[in-house]
Amino acid sequence: MRRISIFGATGSVGVNTVDLINRGGGRAAFDVVALSGGANIALLAEQARNLGARIAVTAYPQHLDELRRALEGSGVEAAAGPDALTEAASRPTDWAMSAIVGVAGLRPTLELAASTRVLALANKESLVCAGALLRARCAAHKTRLLPVDSEHSALWQAMNGEDAAKVRRLILTATGGPFRTWSLAQMANATPAQAVAHPTWDMGQRISVDSASMFNKALEVIEAANLYDMPAAAIEVIVHPQAIVHSMVEFCDGAILAHLGTPDMRAPIGYALNWPDRAPLPVPPLNLETLRQLDFEPPDPLRFPALRLARQVLAAGGGHGAAFNAAKEAALDAFLAGQIGFLDMARLVEDVLDQPYVRAVITQIPRDLNTVLTIDTVARNAAEDWIAKNKGLVSD
Ligand code: NAD
Ligand code: MG
Repeated sequence: MRRISIFGATGSVGVNTVDLINRGGGRAAFDVVALSGGANIALLAEQARNLGARIAVTAYPQHLDELRRALEGSGVEAAAGPDALTEAASRPTDWAMSAIVGVAGLRPTLELAASTRVLALANKESLVCAGALLRARCAAHKTRLLPVDSEHSALWQAMNGEDAAKVRRLILTATGGPFRTWSLAQMANATPAQAVAHPTWDMGQRISVDSASMFNKALEVIEAANLYDMPAAAIEVIVHPQAIVHSMVEFCDGAILAHLGTPDMRAPIGYALNWPDRAPLPVPPLNLETLRQLDFEPPDPLRFPALRLARQVLAAGGGHGAAFNAAKEAALDAFLAGQIGFLDMARLVEDVLDQPYVRAVITQIPRDLNTVLTIDTVARNAAEDWIAKNKGLVSD
């Protein structure tokens, strides 16, 4: 029986993964080693009971008693906190999903890279913060790293069986998010509720706001560069509001291979779960007759400066990715808390990367987890300073 683990099982990607596992036969077909979640203990316990997991871990120690009570009599072990997460991630599996959101997913992901055969990676932050480290760890343990991000799954499927040296361009599609047609003035006053309302994809809160600012696409450009060893200049972003073409690869002869499908995360998750095979998935088929039209437009660099910042991060290399992600996470928290405006997020990130004491720590490529976490802390401190200085000044 295939041994599997799901980290971030209670989130948007996690719930879709559990859905596919259940449809694939659940506990009768899979040996579920570990599931992890956060504060939604009722859901984590229900998933763990249904799937007969050996261990369920909440990220938060204050929820351990509640988790123990919810699992009483089930035979599922309960654990809590970052060390328990790391321990659970070190248990051997054949397939593991990394779907914790943010840099919090980095330590468990690095652990999974050493303990599983196939690592399905939704946590793009791991590649942004520590791409070289994660790839080296996968290589050392002969772990197959499979992208779950829909764009990167699309690229990977288009490149399947092709010579990587013959790839000329990677073309990442972006929906443009809820503010695609908004003016700068409107965006300056955008609320968290408006930013979360994604027009085509149903995702977690944080990635939805990142989609609205295109910080998500910025992370994805860095993710693609890391996954496919491509220079920033060979990675393009094109806005495609229908979210049907999930990305494209252009080869040296000018041929462009695209991956099309209904926007549903169960498609890329299912591809990674069934790889190297394909199997039917519960994704509604694409109806080209009703669709009729696919639109493409260039992203507006003035309204979406995150894309320019991603290119600067790639050009600078070293620990810039880790600082970029940390500043972005801090900016997102401050925006969600109503401390700064929507457009301030990119200003904050750009200013943090320019701080002399941040620059002093990001010139080296981080070769170990502690270096990444140090850069993360320095950048977060710089972000806190920025927020303290600029709080309440409405941007426009
Ligand atoms: P989510 O917020 O819905 O779920 C996040 C999961 O991580 C939850 O299980 C939560 O309990 C857990 N978590 C949160 N903070 C934690 C912490 N500090 N320590 C440990 N666990 C913690 O997020 P999501 O939308 O499912 O996204 C998960 C990852 O997948 C992100 O890296 C995101 O960028 C990526 N991703 C998501 C989608 C999508 O459609 N949602 C698509 C592509 C990529
Ligand atoms: Mg994506």
